[in-house]
Amino acid sequence: MLTRNEGFANLAAGYLFPEVAKRRKSYQQNHPDAKIISLGIGNTTEPITPHIAKTMSDYVQKLTTKDGYSGYGDEQGLTELRKKIADVLYKDMATEDEVFISDGAKCDIARIQTLFGRNAKIAVQDPAYPVYVDGSVIAGAAGKASSQGGYEGVTYLPCTAENGFFPDLSVIKPDTLIYFCSPNNPTGVASTREQLTELVNYALKNGCMIIYDSAYYSFIRDSSLPRTIYEIPGARKCAIEINSFSKLAGFTGIRLGWSVVPSEIKFADGTPVKQDWNRVMTTLFNGASNIAQQGGLAALDEEGIKETTGLVNYYLENANLMQKALTGNNFANAGVKVYYTGDSPYLWVYFPGWKSWDIFDKILDECNVVTTPGSGFGPAGESYLRFSCFGHRSDVEEACRRLAGFKL
Ligand SMILES: *Cc1c(COP(=O)(O)O)cnc(C)c1O
Repeated sequence: MLTRNEGFANLAAGYLFPEVAKRRKSYQQNHPDAKIISLGIGNTTEPITPHIAKTMSDYVQKLTTKDGYSGYGDEQGLTELRKKIADVLYKDMATEDEVFISDGAKCDIARIQTLFGRNAKIAVQDPAYPVYVDGSVIAGAAGKASSQGGYEGVTYLPCTAENGFFPDLSVIKPDTLIYFCSPNNPTGVASTREQLTELVNYALKNGCMIIYDSAYYSFIRDSSLPRTIYEIPGARKCAIEINSFSKLAGFTGIRLGWSVVPSEIKFADGTPVKQDWNRVMTTLFNGASNIAQQGGLAALDEEGIKETTGLVNYYLENANLMQKALTGNNFANAGVKVYYTGDSPYLWVYFPGWKSWDIFDKILDECNVVTTPGSGFGPAGESYLRFSCFGHRSDVEEACRRLAGFKL
C-alpha cells in the first residue's frame, strides 16, 4: 500500500468552518423554527453588479460564435488584464509581466508553497487565515504539531489588543517566509504605513520574504493607509502580493485572483522568484476562466470601479450597524471590547472570561446568530469572536436587533 503524505497526518483536527457549519446544522435540527442568521463565514452575499455581469454575459455569447470562441489562453492570464491590473492598481509599482492571473487568492497561497519546499521556515500572524499554516503543514514545511498547540516549524506572531494587533517582529528568525495579511482576517485591522515599513525593513535586513495577502484592500477607507505593500520603499525586493476579486467584486463563486512577483526578488542562489513562479503557474495551473477574466477587466474600468466601490460601501454600512449594535447593549459593562476601525469587513470582539466556542454557542442559542470563534484562527484568538458584515441588509438589521437585546 502507499504511504500517506505525513503532512495530512500532522494536520490538526477539522478545519474551522466545517465545524461552524456542523454546529449550526445541529442547532437547526433541534430548533426547526429558529431563523438563523449567519455573520460567520466571510462569504459575499450581494449580486454581481450590472456592468460587470453584462460584460461577462456578452462574452459568453461571443463564445457561441466561430470567430468569438477561444479555448486555452496564456496560463499567466490575459495580457490585457495583467496590464489593466498593473496600470490601475500598481501604477509605477509593478509591471504587467509581474502580474499573474489566477483562480483566486487561496489557491495562489496554496500553490506558492511549492516554491519553498519543506525546509522553509514559516512565520504567521496569530490569529491568521487558516490556509497559511494548513497549507504549510500539507507541504511538510510546518513540522510536527506541538504539544502546546500550533506547529514546531512555525513562528507565531501574536497580534493582540496590547500590541495594537501588529506583532513583535523580533522573534522572526533570519531567512523566514512571513505570511502577512492586511486588512487582516480575522482582526479587521489594516496596518499603517509605519508598521508596514517596519515589516519590510525587517525582512530586508534579515533575508526574509513576505507573502502579503491584501484580499481586503478595497475595504480601506482611511486614505493614509497603504492599499498595497508596494507603497512601501524596498517592498519590491522582499514581498510577493496575493490578491483577489472575491471581496472586491463579489467573485467568490466566479473565481478570479492575481499575484504580483516583482523581478527583483531572488532566492539565495540568485534565481529570480518570478522565474519559478512562472513555472508553477504554467505547469500546475492552466489559466483562469476566460469569462471571469472579462469580468475582471470590467471591474477595473471606470464604471466597474464605481460599481464595486458601491458594493463594498454596502458591506461597510452593514459593519457600521453591527458596531453600533454591539457597543449599544450591555456588553461594555461585561468588559466586552469591540475592535473595528472601518477599513475591513470584520469586527473583532473580545469576551473576557469566555472561551470562543462557548460564547459562539451562547449567541447561536440565544440570538440565533452564527459568528466565527476567534480561537479557530490561532491561540491568540481565544476569547474573541469574529463578526462578518457580509449579509443582506435586512438580515444584518435583524441580527443587530437580536444582539442589541442580548445580555451577558
Ligand atoms: C477570502 C480570503 C481570501 C480568498 O480569496 P479567493 O480569491 O476567494 O480564494 C484570501 N485571503 C483572505 C485573508 C481571505 O479572507
